[in-house]
Amino acid sequence: MQQTKRRVIALVDCNSFYVSCERLFRPDLKRAPVVVLSNNDGCIISRSTEAKQAGIKMGEPLFKAKYLIDKYKVKVFSSNYELYGDLSRRVMKVLKNFSPDIEFYSIDEAFLDLTNIQIDNIEAYIKNIREVILRWIGIPVSIGAASTKTLAKVANHVAKKSQKGVEEFISKDQSYVDEVLKTFPVREIWGIGKQLSKFFINNNFHNAFQLKSVDNSWVRKNSSVVVLKTIHELNNICCFPLNFSYTARKNCIVSRSFGEKIIEINDLKEAVVNHCITAAERIRSEGLIVKSVYVFIKTNKFKDGYTSLVKKIDLPIATNNTLELVNVCSKAVDSIYVKGLSYSKAGVLFGELEVKDNYEKNLFSHLNQNLDYLMKVIDDTNVKFGRGTVSVAAARINNNYKMKRSHSSKIDTSFLKFVPIVKTG
Ligand SMILES: [Mg+2]
Repeated sequence: MQQTKRRVIALVDCNSFYVSCERLFRPDLKRAPVVVLSNNDGCIISRSTEAKQAGIKMGEPLFKAKYLIDKYKVKVFSSNYELYGDLSRRVMKVLKNFSPDIEFYSIDEAFLDLTNIQIDNIEAYIKNIREVILRWIGIPVSIGAASTKTLAKVANHVAKKSQKGVEEFISKDQSYVDEVLKTFPVREIWGIGKQLSKFFINNNFHNAFQLKSVDNSWVRKNSSVVVLKTIHELNNICCFPLNFSYTARKNCIVSRSFGEKIIEINDLKEAVVNHCITAAERIRSEGLIVKSVYVFIKTNKFKDGYTSLVKKIDLPIATNNTLELVNVCSKAVDSIYVKGLSYSKAGVLFGELEVKDNYEKNLFSHLNQNLDYLMKVIDDTNVKFGRGTVSVAAARINNNYKMKRSHSSKIDTSFLKFVPIVKTG
């Protein structure tokens, strides 16, 4: 007999995502220990299971892990965000086929609302999603399904450890779920950070089961509304609905530390202009326009005489046009640059973003239409022939400002020349 409809939320999480992306083009590393480094080859930010087993810690600086890396012959990659971004988009696109109600939670995670989808066997359904992603994209994922986001996160943890790679609480008895919650540490619960978990442990709540049984009035008195919501979610009451308005972000920031220090204004400008182009492409692809632009340049903050210079520009008319924005950013560098300093970081922040269609047409909109068309042609050309095929002259490519990437796989799936050739026979 059909019961009242229960919510079904699935959390899809890519396994060791950056490592999986690199492995996609290096099948020889399938069972080898692999790590990926953060910007400028600083810290370890993604580890394969084998690297975890070798004792390499998350977030550890490269030099500290050197001994283990040598000992276990760990393969090291610099981060390649173009590749990860592209593969992330492909995974998300496939996921959309399984439910139109999707929240892109991070580069390697998405919540799917499956409530309105006719499903006979929930485990078979999510298992199929997993297999399709693996077959079509080549990225392994884990999927947890439950009636709330917080429980879907717990189910996902279980999925990660199981052979099947999937776990669902929907068809299970409450006693089964409670047994899982009893083994689930408070600090692992979604939204309970390090500080909060200390507070709860001090008050003798060690696992998710203990926390879900806590007296609500005690929580209200001693903690926050968000924690109360989390506790409701552990009790199958949905308090965190899916957020579909993924374009509604308010800011877009693009910044990088330089591989080597920069002194000359033209090199700084080049970096800022390239960040500006990237940010403009990003907001255009999301149908947004920008009202205020911040440009910043900084010296090394760990050295004496740390200097951070910022310029804010309020645009008379909001735009997403690269030519206008490059012009504004370039002038901003002129106005804040101080000679004689050695800069280690530059960036661009687009603030007060708005959805373009909501923005009232202004006096100059007939002029903008031509510029819009130009931008569309540039974006389409770059999608077709590879990033940076068409750009603006100020973004001359001399690589001075580029990040340190000594271990990069250099694969960019938007460039045909990087697609590996498979030999048969
Ligand atoms: Mg992940």
